[in-house]
Amino acid sequence: MRPKRLMRHYRDMTGPTDLPTLPDARFAGLLAEARALQAKTVELRREIHRNPEIGLHLPKTQAAIKAALEGLPLEITEGKSTTSLTAVLRGAKPGPSILLRGDMDALPLHEDTGLDFASEDDGAMHACGHDTHVAMLASAARLLSEHVDELAGSIVFMFQPGEEGEHGARHMIHEGVLEAAGERVEKAFGLHIFTQVESGIVQTRPGPIMASANSFHVKVTGRGGHGSAPHQAIDPVPAAAAMVGALQTMVARKVSVFEPAVVSVTRIEAGTTTNIIPETAFLEGTIRTLSERTLAFVREEVPKVCEAIGAAHGVRVSAEVVSGYPVTVNDPQVAARVLELAGEVLGAGNAEVMENPVMGAEDFSYVLQRVPGAFAFLGACPPGADLATVEANHSNRVVFDEDAMANGVAMYAAFALDALR
Ligand SMILES: [Zn+2]
Ligand SMILES: [Zn+2]
Repeated sequence: MRPKRLMRHYRDMTGPTDLPTLPDARFAGLLAEARALQAKTVELRREIHRNPEIGLHLPKTQAAIKAALEGLPLEITEGKSTTSLTAVLRGAKPGPSILLRGDMDALPLHEDTGLDFASEDDGAMHACGHDTHVAMLASAARLLSEHVDELAGSIVFMFQPGEEGEHGARHMIHEGVLEAAGERVEKAFGLHIFTQVESGIVQTRPGPIMASANSFHVKVTGRGGHGSAPHQAIDPVPAAAAMVGALQTMVARKVSVFEPAVVSVTRIEAGTTTNIIPETAFLEGTIRTLSERTLAFVREEVPKVCEAIGAAHGVRVSAEVVSGYPVTVNDPQVAARVLELAGEVLGAGNAEVMENPVMGAEDFSYVLQRVPGAFAFLGACPPGADLATVEANHSNRVVFDEDAMANGVAMYAAFALDALR
């Protein structure tokens, strides 16, 4: 096994590449340009942070983006089925088009950060940092608008609602975001901010970077009765309990150890009190895999296991698997290029290869199923916080280091300038 420090260098993940060495001058100033926009980036981010919206319909967020892009040489279209926003920047020279994506939606939880720009909505919070994604992408559009003369081709800026489980990217693809500039985009790039990475560092990897997420829902039906006389009832509780164990055994015994798969029962519910055997029990959980093939197998196995266990217990079982996001798969060449650019634009210490994917899921996967591209993580651990104990994305107390946003803006810009030169 290679020492970890070697794994940090991108060449280790794809072997030597024949990509041309970039002239330093082209990208040298991008970080400074991004920093010059930092006040605007922070202002937009805080406005959206104060006014979080959940799901596919985010009118205030869409309006804030439109206002931020006002006056830039962009062709703007709004989504029909959602409040998405697509902006196209046409370069001075002909060429292909590429796509940069930022998601827009917040999460349903109460914010407890104490920030002076904390959410003004009790039941919503930008706990996944999508407010920073919007702000970074808007500033990248502003920065790149200053470079139109250098661009050979077009940039599609994809502002996407409904990432948190609502398949917003798929809605936008159906409405033609990939062809917004005319021809289908040739490359795509998306960033996600994370507190559990040192601030300013860009991380990515070739191949799968995030998992597929499917959910399962199982209803177990027996016959209710008195808690003191189980032999006169058909108790669904032990059947449900046996299913929890059997699902783990299925993963351990039937899925190759080289093919990651997670099956977690995350909710289990039955009964009302101590002396009643309930008629029904419910199980729910999540399935995560890093390949579509493993997913197809596990999707078939989960209901089979539950039905067989149910038969042994004499209960009726109805099990359903609901599709979530596919595996997010990076194109190896594009991922390598992103790290090379991160090294050049942000400094070599700010580009890291991830050894392992993360088992969370992301609907940018729908874009990467159709277009070669890369998804990358941007570290935003706040100053003074410890990486091991910092509040994570989705926490009611998560705080992102806003300084990292300049790095994100510079990365979006570098990706576009590099692809369209
Ligand atoms: Zn999230
Ligand atoms: Zn997110």
